Amino acid sequence: MNYSVTVSDSVLRSMTMAALEAYILGDGRRGKTRLETSGLLWGYVRQREDATHIHVEQTSILLSSRRHQDWVDFNPVATKLKNSVMAEWAPHLSLLGDFHTHPYESRQDHVFNQGAKFSDADIESVLNYDYLWEESNNLPLQMIMSVAEVERVRNSEPRRNSRNVIRFNFKQYRIWLTAGVGEIRKGERIFLGNGTRKVFLSVDRFPLSPPERIDLTA
Ligand SMILES: [Zn+2]
Repeated sequence: MNYSVTVSDSVLRSMTMAALEAYILGDGRRGKTRLETSGLLWGYVRQREDATHIHVEQTSILLSSRRHQDWVDFNPVATKLKNSVMAEWAPHLSLLGDFHTHPYESRQDHVFNQGAKFSDADIESVLNYDYLWEESNNLPLQMIMSVAEVERVRNSEPRRNSRNVIRFNFKQYRIWLTAGVGEIRKGERIFLGNGTRKVFLSVDRFPLSPPERIDLTA
């Protein structure tokens, strides 16, 4: 299956603020900056002929996560707690998955570490996360927001690194956003993430299909 992943402006802003806060200020512990942080993602899924469309409409940062420079370990109880709030308050949205950040000291460091990619631990963790597979109807979405400080200060529109990775500049930071989706193939869980052509990520809402006339016949 092909997947088209879109992210609302509000979610993109919230993810960016969380990623920058953890990068610049850490989580309040002295001397701990450039930390990873994480959050949950809710939204809509619609299966159509060409692709399964996944739209992320809301995020919530996981405050109870343990944050480190190389990993973030979130509490699975927090996922259940927040998802039960959403089930009551916004039953039209479903739990899609989660995101976490990858902080890098510099752009070179990011390139060296292939920072926009899912680590083996990231993939292992999603493949074993039963609750998320159940709640997402066996289509768990994983996103990574990578941040690196760069010398050139500028803002730029999102540009594409690959089908499932986009990047943009915000002030003195370069930010990459990566999407991956899990699915069941031949009865087994697999994760389409690094180097996949099956997941297409976009953050703008402009239609990507070729322009065709709208059928106005009654
Ligand atoms: Zn990771």
